Order: sequence, then C-alpha cells, then structure tokens
Amino acid sequence: MAHERKIKCDCGRFLEEKETRIEHIITGALVCPNCGFTTLTKEQAKMFQKRLELHNAVDQEKQIIKIGNSMGITLPEKLRDFGIKIGNKVKLEAINERSFKVELG
Ligand SMILES: [Zn+2]
Repeated sequence: MAHERKIKCDCGRFLEEKETRIEHIITGALVCPNCGFTTLTKEQAKMFQKRLELHNAVDQEKQIIKIGNSMGITLPEKLRDFGIKIGNKVKLEAINERSFKVELG
C-alpha cells in the first residue's frame, strides 16, 4: 500500500522504514541507519498518535481486587473509545516472572 519514496537524511544516507520506540511507544518510523535521525510519515504519525492515546489511557498503577473467588483488575473506562467492550476476548501472555501482557482480540 505504501509507495516507496526514499527520503535522504542530512548526513547523506537514505532513511529506512523500521519499528522504533518513541516515548515508550513502539511505532513504525523512518530511521537513518547512520546518525539515528528519526521521522514519521503522515500515516506513521497518525498510527503513533493513536498508540500514544491508548498508552495514556492504559498506563497506570492498579490494585488487584477480589471478584467472587477470583482476582481481578479493572480496565479504564477510556478504553471504550478504542472500541473495547465488555464481552471482548483478551489473551494473557507471560513475559517474565513479573509481567504479562494483555492482547486485545
Ligand atoms: Zn543521518
């Protein structure tokens, strides 16, 4: 879908499309392999903005609560803005002994 359009960095090398981390967000970006200069295309900027909003909605400290005989954590109300509804399936995956991720279905 994206048309190839090479953009030259000030240092002379061409920028390459790759996944990078900006403000803790993993996003597609154009990165210079030489000096590390990073920029976003219009589409990448839009995607980054969306991820940043989700990041701001989700990232917070929570306390584990008791729900019946189970342990639970509540999800922020703001997630509704991202189309996440009660009844949606999520996948839990352990990252290491201290963290796991919740993948939205
Ligand atoms: Zn460069």
